[in-house]
Amino acid sequence: MGRIVGIDLGTTNSVIGVLEAGRPLVISNSEGSRTTPSVIGYSKESELLVGQQARRQLVLNPKNTFSNLKRFVGRTWEELDENSLNVAYTVRANEEECVRVTCPVTEREYAPEELIGSIIRKLIDDAEKHLEESIESAVVTVPAYFNDSQRQATRDAALLAGIRVERILNEPTAAALAYGFDKKSASKVLVFDLGGGTFDISLLSISNGVFDVKATSGDTQLGGNDFDKKIVDWLADEFLKEHNIDLRRDRQSLQRLSEAAEKAKQELSGLSKTPISLPFISTGSNGPLHIETVLDRRKFEYLCKDLIDRLLIPVETALNDSGWTADDINDVVLVGGSTRMPMVHQLIRTIVPIEPSQSVNPDEVVAVGAAVQAGILSGELRDLLLNDVTPLSLGLETVGGLMKVLIPRNTPIPVRQADVFSTSEANQSSVEINVWQGERQLANDNKSLGKFRLSGIPPAPRGVPQVQVAFDIDANGLLQVSATDRTTGRKQSVSINGGSNLNENEVNKLIKEAQEKADFDRRKRASIDQKNNALTLIAQAERRLRDVALEFGPYGAERQQRAVEVALRDVQEFLEINDLAELDLAVSALQEALFGLNRRISAEKRVDNNPIQGIKNTFGSLKDELFSDDYWDDDPWDYNPNEGKRERDYGRKELDRWDNDYYN
Ligand code: AMP
Repeated sequence: MGRIVGIDLGTTNSVIGVLEAGRPLVISNSEGSRTTPSVIGYSKESELLVGQQARRQLVLNPKNTFSNLKRFVGRTWEELDENSLNVAYTVRANEEECVRVTCPVTEREYAPEELIGSIIRKLIDDAEKHLEESIESAVVTVPAYFNDSQRQATRDAALLAGIRVERILNEPTAAALAYGFDKKSASKVLVFDLGGGTFDISLLSISNGVFDVKATSGDTQLGGNDFDKKIVDWLADEFLKEHNIDLRRDRQSLQRLSEAAEKAKQELSGLSKTPISLPFISTGSNGPLHIETVLDRRKFEYLCKDLIDRLLIPVETALNDSGWTADDINDVVLVGGSTRMPMVHQLIRTIVPIEPSQSVNPDEVVAVGAAVQAGILSGELRDLLLNDVTPLSLGLETVGGLMKVLIPRNTPIPVRQADVFSTSEANQSSVEINVWQGERQLANDNKSLGKFRLSGIPPAPRGVPQVQVAFDIDANGLLQVSATDRTTGRKQSVSINGGSNLNENEVNKLIKEAQEKADFDRRKRASIDQKNNALTLIAQAERRLRDVALEFGPYGAERQQRAVEVALRDVQEFLEINDLAELDLAVSALQEALFGLNRRISAEKRVDNNPIQGIKNTFGSLKDELFSDDYWDDDPWDYNPNEGKRERDYGRKELDRWDNDYYN
C-alpha cells in the first residue's frame, strides 16, 4: 500500500500531515507555511489561485474569490442559514436546489466540492514535492457532526482532486488520537473543537491505545466566522446610523469589514481593547468616509453572548448521552483557533473545572491525528484501535410521517441494523423507502438523505408482506441502505446521496473534465512559471549590468556587458511577443551571457585588488589570459549551468555569432 496522508480540511485553514518513522508530522506548503488558507480564487486572467495567493485577492477581487466553502458542502439551498449566505461572492441554488457558486471571470458555476477539491489538490501537490513520491490516498477529517450528505460531499471533493479517501475521520476523534497516541495511562477526555465554521464536542475514553468515542454532538453552522459577523454587524450598524449607508451591501466594503473584524477578534484574545481603522470605506455626499473606532473585550463578549449560549447546548447533550458527569473528565483537549478566545476558555472552565491540555497545537492537532489514523490504516501503527460513533440518528419515514429510528445517535460504527416493515394498503405492489437523519420525531423536521422504491411485491392484504430494511454504516460514517421482500427475495440497495451537491454522473463528468484539463493546466502553469522566471532573470541582468557599470565603468568588461545587453533584449522581445519556444532559448543565452560576465568580473577582481585600475590598465594583457583554458581550472564561476548544452544551444550560437560580429 502506498503512503496515506492525513488531511484536515478546515473552514478557514487546511493542514496536511504524514507519518514519518512512526511519528506524525505536519508538512509545510510551498509558501513555507504549515497551514494553508482554505481559499480558492480566479485571477483577472482566469488563473486558478489556491491558499495564500487566493487569500491575498479577497478584498480586491471579492466576486472571484471563495472562502468558507465548507459551510456549503453537502447542504441543500433550503438548509443554509442567513449567516452562511453572508459572503462577498454570489451563491445561488440550481434547479435541483443544490448550492452553486458563481465565478464571473471564468463564466462558470462551481459546486462547493469542486472548489474544495482544488484545496486538496494543492495540499497533495505540496506534500508530493516534500516527500518526493506520488500520493494517491488520504484520511480526510470532517466535523463529527457532519451528516451523511456532508460526508459524501467531502469524499466527492477528494475524488475530484484525484485522491482516494481511505477513511473519513471525525475531527475531534482525530484530535484525541493526536493527543493520546503515545500516552499510556487511561483517561476520559473531552474534545472541544471550535474552528472557523463548525463546532464539535466529543467525549472519549482512552486506554492502552484503544480510543472509544462515547458521545459526540455539535453545530455545523457555528464557528469563528459567527464571532466575526457580530463585529461586522456592530460596525455596519453604527455606520448605517451615522451615514445612512449599509456597508454590507457593497462586496468590497463587506470583505474589508470582515477582515478587520477577524483581526480585531483575534487581537482581543490577547488585549483588552483594540483599534479598528478602515479609511475610505465609503463615499458620502461630502467626500470619503472612514471608520475609526475602538472595540473592547467586554463589548465584544456582550455582542457574542448568544453564541456562547449556543455552545453550551451540544456540550450538555454529549454529557447526557455518554452518561458521564463533568467530574468524570480527566482531560480537556482544545481544537481550532476559536478556542483561543478568553470567553470560550472561560465557558469551558465553567463546564469542566480543569485546565485544558496545551500539549498539542490547536491549529495542527486534527491533521496530526489524521496522520496517525493513516498510520493505523497502513499498518505502521499496530497498537492503536479506534472505535467511533455515528453522530445522528438514522431512520425511516413510517405512516403519518413519523420517524422510525433504526440506528440511534452515538451507536459505535461500523454497524448494521435491520427491521421488518409491511404495507399500509391491500395489494400494494411497491413501497417507498424514505431515509432520514436527525433527532426530531417527525421525519420532515429531519434531514432527508434520499428515497428509493422497492417494487414487485405480490398482491396481499395490508400488513402481510414483509419487507426487511437494513442500514449499514461503515467506518467512515457513510450509509448504505437495502430493502428485501422476504417473500420473493427481491432486493434493492442504494448508497444514499440525496442531499449531496453533486450526483454520481456529475462527479464522474467532473473527474473526466479535470483529467482532461490537468494537462492544459500544467502547460498553462509551466508557461506562467517560464514567464516569471524570465522576468526575474531580466531584473537580475539589469541589476548586474548597473552594478558592473558602476564598479568598472561602461567599458570595464565591454564584450561581456554587450553580450548581456543583447541577450537581455532578446528575452524582453520574446516575452513581449509571447514566443515561448524562443523565450526558452533566449533565457539560456542570457544565463550564459551573465555567467560570462560574472566570470570576467571575478577574474578582474582576482588579478587586481583595485578593480578599476586593474581593468583599465591591464585589459589588453588580461584578455588572452582570460580565455586561456588553464586559467579557469579553479575558478569559482567555473560551474556553468548550461554545460553540455552549448553546441546545441541556439542562444550560445547566436551569442558566438553576435560576439564575432561586434567584437572581433
Ligand atoms: P481553524 O478552522 O481551526 O483554523 O480556526 C480558524 C478560526 O479561528 C478563525 O475563525 C480564526 O479567526 C479563529 N482564530 C484564530 N486565532 C484566533 C485568536 N487568537 N483568537 C480568536 N480567534 C482566533
